[in-house]
Amino acid sequence: MTDCLFCRIAAGDIPADIVARTDTVIAFRDIAPKAPVHVLVVPFAHVANVTEAAAQIPTVLAEMVQIAQRIADAETGGEFRLVFNTGPTAGQSVFHAHGHLLGGAELTWDDA
Ligand code: 5GP
Ligand code: ZN
Repeated sequence: MTDCLFCRIAAGDIPADIVARTDTVIAFRDIAPKAPVHVLVVPFAHVANVTEAAAQIPTVLAEMVQIAQRIADAETGGEFRLVFNTGPTAGQSVFHAHGHLLGGAELTWDDA
């Protein structure tokens, strides 16, 4: 989708600080980090949210979790929070499924 920010980043049309990629998933640093490590884990396929990902591309969703673990192993000692904001009232602003990988500090529920 050409009008989707994360499709455009995945296609390389918009630059991002990419930390991992496979054939189906790309991970890049959030432009406005809320933790020392804040990486967005994104499927190449355009699905609106994590629930659609679970229904339509479940193996890719599993791969997203595995990539989050791999990044955490490299950057946060293996521990992390993975957040999927789903819907505007939950804070979702980009309607292409993505997990926020957060870590690198002691997180509380006051953090994102
Ligand atoms: P959401 O609010 O949909 O859960 O998460 C969207 C995230 O995308 C936000 O944390 C926001 O900071 C991040 N973001 C928005 N625009 C850009 C961008 O152009 N590049 C990157 N790397 N992150 C972005
Ligand atoms: Zn998209």
